[in-house]
Formats: sequence, C-alpha cells, structure tokens
Amino acid sequence: MDKLSDLSVASIKGIGEETEQALQDMGITTIHDLIEHFPYRYEDYQLKDLAEVKHEERVTVEGKIHSVPTLTYFGKKKSRLTFRLLVGRYLITVVCFNRPYYKSKLSLDETITVTGKWDQHRQTITLQEIQFSPFQRQQTIEPVYATKGDLTVKAFRRFISLALNQYGEQVEDMIPPSLRDRYKLLSRKDALKMIHLPRDHSDLKQARRRFVYEEFLLFQLKMQALRKLEREQSPGISQTFDSSSLVDFTNLLPFPLTGAQKRVVNEITIDMKSPYRMNRLLQGDVGSGKTVVAAIALYATVLSGRQGALMVPTEILAEQHLESLQNMLEKVDVKVGLLTGSVKGKTRKEVLRQVQAGEIHVLVGTHALIQDEVQFHNLGLVITDEQHRFGVGQRRVLREKGGNPDVLFMTATPIPRTLAITVFGEMDVSIIDEMPAGRKMIETYWVKHDMLERILQFVDKELSLGRQAYVICPLIEESDKLDVQNAIDVHSTLTHYFHGKWKVGLMHGRLTPDEKEQVMKEFSANDVQVLVSTTVVEVGVNVPNATVMVIYDAERFGLSQLHQLRGRVGRGSEQSYCVLMADPKSEVGKERMTIMTETNDGFVLSERDLELRGPGDFFGKKQSGVPEFKVADMVHDYRALEVARDDATKLVNSTIFWEDEEYSQLRLHLEKTGVLSGEKLD
Ligand code: ADP
Ligand code: MG
Repeated sequence: MDKLSDLSVASIKGIGEETEQALQDMGITTIHDLIEHFPYRYEDYQLKDLAEVKHEERVTVEGKIHSVPTLTYFGKKKSRLTFRLLVGRYLITVVCFNRPYYKSKLSLDETITVTGKWDQHRQTITLQEIQFSPFQRQQTIEPVYATKGDLTVKAFRRFISLALNQYGEQVEDMIPPSLRDRYKLLSRKDALKMIHLPRDHSDLKQARRRFVYEEFLLFQLKMQALRKLEREQSPGISQTFDSSSLVDFTNLLPFPLTGAQKRVVNEITIDMKSPYRMNRLLQGDVGSGKTVVAAIALYATVLSGRQGALMVPTEILAEQHLESLQNMLEKVDVKVGLLTGSVKGKTRKEVLRQVQAGEIHVLVGTHALIQDEVQFHNLGLVITDEQHRFGVGQRRVLREKGGNPDVLFMTATPIPRTLAITVFGEMDVSIIDEMPAGRKMIETYWVKHDMLERILQFVDKELSLGRQAYVICPLIEESDKLDVQNAIDVHSTLTHYFHGKWKVGLMHGRLTPDEKEQVMKEFSANDVQVLVSTTVVEVGVNVPNATVMVIYDAERFGLSQLHQLRGRVGRGSEQSYCVLMADPKSEVGKERMTIMTETNDGFVLSERDLELRGPGDFFGKKQSGVPEFKVADMVHDYRALEVARDDATKLVNSTIFWEDEEYSQLRLHLEKTGVLSGEKLD
C-alpha cells in the first residue's frame, strides 16, 4: 500500500524481539498492519445523564459526595465501601468492593468522577474506577483492541499511538481529494488518528464515515471493473429484431403491461441489441409478472433468428411455464418445447433433435437443459427463473453454454437492494417494483396453533364460496421423513374433517413426478379443494382460484419463504387470506410474524429479513458471496454503499480514472486485487 508496509513494527520504541514475535503471531508485522489494527469497541468515559443509561450499562458520572462512606468487612480480606453521591438531580449509591483504603480519601462535599456498572433498579453504581477530582475531558473514549497471548490492550494503545505519532504523516490516501472534498471526508491520516484516539463521539463518527466510504468504494471499484471487463472480454451478439413486432406481440396479451414491465422490457431489449453480452438480474415480487417479460424477451430472440431457453428449478414449474409460454407464443408461431428429467425415451430424442435442428424455438426445462447432450442450433438467450435456487456453479455453466447467448436471471425472492448491490454487483439489475392493477392486499393473520378449529371453519366458509385453499406443513429437506409424515398427518386430519364435503389432496417431494402432476392437475381443475403440501408449492405454482393459504409452524420459515408461500394466493381477483399458525418462542420469531401481517411488499420484507438475520445468513452460509467489511455495515450504511457504487461505476467508465495521476493509488489497488489481470473475484 505505502512505505509503511515495508517498515517493521520493531522500529517502534518499546517493541523488542519478544513483542515483535507476539505481534507477528497476530499477523501484525509492519507499521501498516499495526495502525490498521482497529479497535473493536471503545470504553466510554464520557459523562452521561443517568436518565439515558440502561440497566447494567457501564457509565461514568461526576458527583458530589453526599454521605460519609461506610465500610463493612466480611472475613479478612473482603470489604464493601458504600456512600451516597449527588449526580445532577439524582442521589445515587456507590458501592466499592475490596478497596477499603478509599475510605480515607473520600470527604464529604468533594466532587469526584466514578465509572462503573449502573443498576437502574437500585440506583446504584458498582465502582470500577474512581478519580478524586472533577471530570476531565481528555481521553474519555478509550479504544479496546483484540489481543493475543501476553499482549495487553494497554500495550496496543501505546504502540499504536507511538506509531501514529512517528509515522502518521507518511500515511497515504488512496481516495483523491476531489472525492474527499465532495463528501467532506477526513484524510486517511486524520481518520486513522481519530479511530484510534477519538476525543469524542463526533471524532469517531467522522472517522467511521471515512472508512465506510473507503471500504465500499474499493469493493465497488473491484466489482465495476470486473463488470466492465466481462463486458469487453465476452463479446455477445447484437440481436436484431423490430421493436414494433414486440409491441404487436404485447397487444395480443389480455392485459396492458405495467409501467415497470415496460421499463424492464426496454432495459432487456437494449442489452440484447447491444454487442455486449447481457448479464442481467431481473427482480420482481411474486405475481409482478415476470413470465410475460420473459416471453417478450424470448420472442425477441426468436425474431432475431435464434433460440431461447428458460430454465427453472422444478418440473412442476417447467410444465407451468411451458403452458403459459405456449399460450402466449403460439399465437405468433413460436414453437415451445419441454425438457425435464422425466421426458424420456423416444420423446426425449425427438425433443433433442428438434432443438438441434432449430425447429423448437424456445426450450423450457429444469437443469436438464444444461446437460451436454442438449445441443442448440443457435442459442441467443438463456433465462433462469428463481435464480437463487441455482448454485453459482450452475450459473456459470449456463453462461458458458455455446455461442455467447445473452443471460437473464429472474428471481421472485426480492433480494434486499443492499445485497443485490454487493453480491450481484457485477451484474446489471432490473426491478419490477409495481404490481398489475387491481391486485388486492392479501390479508394476513398470525394465530396460535390452538385456533385450528376456527381456522378450519374459516377455510370451510371460503370453500363454500367456490374457492380453494392451500395448507402448508414445514419441510426443510425434501427427503426428511419426519416432515413428510407431518404433511401426511395433516392430510388425514383434514380429510376426516371435511369428509363428504370437500376433497383434500396431498403433495410432497417424495411423490413421483407423475403423481405430483396428477395432484396439481386435480387442484388446478378444482377437483380437489384443499391442497395439503410441503414447500414444494413454494415457487411459481399458479392456481388463481385459491384464496386461502394456511401455514403450519410458520415460525420455522424465514420471512422470504413465508412471503413466497403467501404468494400462491392472491393471484385472482378475489380477496385472499394467509393464516400463519405459529407459537414462536423468541422475540425475533414474534417480530417476523408481526412483520408478515403488516406488509405484502416483498422488498420491505427482505430488508427486514436481512436486518433480523444478518447478511451472512441471508443466502445460507455457504457461497453467500457476501463480502466482509472491517468498519462498514452493509445494512446500516446502505446509503454510503449506493453512493460508492455510483462513484465506482462512473470512475471505471471514465478515461481520467485510467490515466490521471490523481487516481494512481486506486488503480494500483485494483491491480493488486487481480481483477484487471482477468482473475475472477473468487
Ligand atoms: P411472477 O412470475 O412474477 O410471479 P407471473 O408472470 O406468473 O408473475 O404473473 C402473475 C399473474 O399476473 C399471471 O396470471 C399473469 O398473467 C398476470 N399478469 C402479468 N402481467 C400483468 C399485467 N400487466 N396486468 C395484469 N395481469 C398481469
Ligand atoms: Mg414466475
């Protein structure tokens, strides 16, 4: 980074061989490493109003001694010293253990400063430190460092402060003055001083601001440079089609497109026409109408003389998409084919032949689509639906499948904007943030399991109006015996309950594809009125006549998943309902249920989910791709993240960034990340 990376910590006074070794064991060998060892928290000795201090919090107060201290001994060594202290308008008690000698130093009416743990109920401070003088403002916030072995926090304070005094002036700043001025950011040198030796909270805040921006900017530069390079290095195809033909096509649809649909169609078609390879994420809440957008894009590639592929995670979904795409695309003579694991034998051979011959224009299927045996005649566009269910690996294979096709990833799980920017930073993102007109809010209730009888009465009432209902039982792993059993139990309970009146179907991951299809057909045709199911119906299933969604053990699902499940209803014109049966034990669990009842907006839910679970957990621990920052917090510093992303985008696309001296440090940094030499992020 700078010269300080070459200077050994041994050049600091007081760091001998032993300490040097101890520091090295912590990965600290240079001055640079040392001053980059940030405090992980601070000890706060600032004066506070006791009214604002929480129970058991550590606090420093100044007060006047209001009673003569009393000293009590227990046994030989243990003692307790107690006195009253007048702090502002509060008369509190101070208790001090095992320091009997303080008694003689404390005289009535003297002003002292004490630090200790506040017991709100007893209005007592248990003393940790005392100063026999009024409060002094110097060094009221002390840094606390992670240490190892014999190194103490105090030693770190000393070494770092010495290092800053000695070498602080040599700290270089990667962020050029123009950017610093724009956001009134501290120089790196000042920010380092303030993060290690803050005089007050305002210092800390300013230092944090600076490092948050720096971390985000560096990260985003990497992402945006990668994106730019990917564009330049993976030449795509300029697809040629007539926009007016697309308009004609949309006019055949039974509804006008929403404004958001029009906007994303525009974004997608611009990408398709451009010589770059499209690498776009399309986010849209359940029911926002992504399938139509996919159909339009697929039609565009067919108009351009190419084939399209739509890949989905389950066979049920593949079949549903086949049907809706056929409905739309056959009117314009586009032939849609299906390829899943259960398309076998002769039929499979024939499908493969037609795909290779270009007779099938659009192929819909599961991951079977990316197997080697599938050869396209001329693939122009690949779309995946419910993208996050595919691994990163599959995403790659897909993009590497012949001929540089444009790629569109669709997801119905609204990914918090925060994460979309970081995890998918190298992609372009389109968002459908508007629902088709006339959609009603799904009324959502949270009840305890002992309300089952009333819920069933409610379901019965809805069924009497000609509607249908889903009843979901939790299932974490499709092969999990216990949970399948759970669905089976509920199925038999409900079959018994509705006997002679309504038919109850059963759906779970262990049925054969044929059986699943049979069940779905019966439910679609309203031959079955209640469908008891595991989460296999979570994605994509579309039965507009279903208006009730009952979810057992709802506390076992994440917010996003509950939202997906809820999205199975509210797809028709009737008012729909979602009943969450849950007895959550934890506060977070209760909060999750409450949030569900308060909003239908998937983006709001996903942001809340992220806050409750934290970034690492959002996609599941593995391959989450969520970067770790030292100072910044993706959720709370979201605004800064956005700003940094915009700045990074502008920079990498400008010539001055690549040429001007002002940016040389940033360029150097980018070079070191390996992005520029074509190494990938991971
Ligand atoms: P998603 O895949 O985003 O969850 P779909 O594409 O399945 O949503 O659309 C949900 C329902 O809304 C479908 O029945 C579809 O026909 C309908 N739909 C889509 N776009 C519109 C629109 N602009 N106006 C009215 N209905 C629409
Ligand atoms: Mg869909």
